[in-house]
Amino acid sequence: MKVFSTIADFREARSQIKDRVGFVPTMGYLHEGHLALVRWARGDCDAVAVSIFVNPTQFGPNDDFARYPRDADRDLGLLAKEGVDLVFMPRGEEMYPPGFSSWVEVGRLTERLEGAFRPAHFRGVATVVTKLFNIVQPTRAYFGQKDAQQAAVIKRMVRDLNMNLDIVVVPTGREGDGLAISSRNIYLDSEERRAALCLWNSLRRAEDLWSKGERDAETIRQKMISFIQQEPKAKIDYVSIADPETLEELIEVKPPALILLAVWIGKTRLIDALLLGGNLSESAL
Ligand code: AMP
Repeated sequence: MKVFSTIADFREARSQIKDRVGFVPTMGYLHEGHLALVRWARGDCDAVAVSIFVNPTQFGPNDDFARYPRDADRDLGLLAKEGVDLVFMPRGEEMYPPGFSSWVEVGRLTERLEGAFRPAHFRGVATVVTKLFNIVQPTRAYFGQKDAQQAAVIKRMVRDLNMNLDIVVVPTGREGDGLAISSRNIYLDSEERRAALCLWNSLRRAEDLWSKGERDAETIRQKMISFIQQEPKAKIDYVSIADPETLEELIEVKPPALILLAVWIGKTRLIDALLLGGNLSESAL
C-alpha cells in the first residue's frame, strides 16, 4: 500500500494504473462501515484508492471540525489489511491553498434536510468530492447509504456535470443492535449509546407500518416522531419521508421511498436512513 500526502505524488502513482480504480472517500477514523465500502470496491475493481481528509469546508462554525476524531496510524493499519493500493491523505493547505475560491453548488437537492440545518455543508462536500475525483480519476466511487442525501447529491452532481465515473451506494453497516456505525458514535456515553437506538428503532417501526399497509406519509412520520420523543435524551432535527431522487416530501408512500432522520442524542448529532422498496443505487439516479 502506498500513502501520499501531495496531489503530484498521488497523480504520479495513479498514472501507473491502467485498470479499473475503485475510490472510497472518507474523513478517517475508519470503522466497519468504511471497510464495507473498501471491500465492495475491492470486489468490483482492479485497484482500490482511499482518501482520508477531514474536509473543513463541509463543517459549519458550530460543528465538530476541531474535535472530529482522528487516528491516522490505526486507519492505515486497517487499510493495509484490506489490501488497499493507494491512500491519499492530504493536509488542509494541499486541498485549499491560499486564494482558493471555486465552489460546486448542486442546487435544490442540497437545500432541504441536512442542508437546511447545516448551511454550506453540501457545497463543501460537492467541492471536495469534485477535487478528489479530479485527483484520483476513479472508474467507480463508493458512498454509504447512511448518508443518503449525500449519495443523492453526489449522483446528481456526477450526472449534471458529466463526470466520467459510476457512483455505487453501499448498504449501511450497523452494530449488532442496529445502530448505524459512525465515527461520531465515539462521542456517546453508555446512557446515550442506549438512547441512540431510537433512530434505528423508529425506522424499523416505519417499515413495519408500511409493510402492514400504511401509505400516508404524515401518519408514519408522526408515529416516528412520537416514538423518538419518548426518549428524553433525543431531540429531533427532522424526520422525512421523501422521493429518493428529488428528496421532496412524499404525501403517499409509494416505493421506493426514502426515510431520513437527524436526531441529537445529548450533544451528538446522528443521522440514519432507510429505503422502503427498491434499491438505492438504482433509484437515486
Ligand atoms: P465519513 O468518513 O463519515 O465521511 O464517511 C465516508 C464514507 O463512508 C461515506 O460515503 C459514508 O456514507 C460512508 N459510511 C459511513 N458510515 C457508514 C456505514 N455505517 N455504513 C456504510 N457506509 C458508511
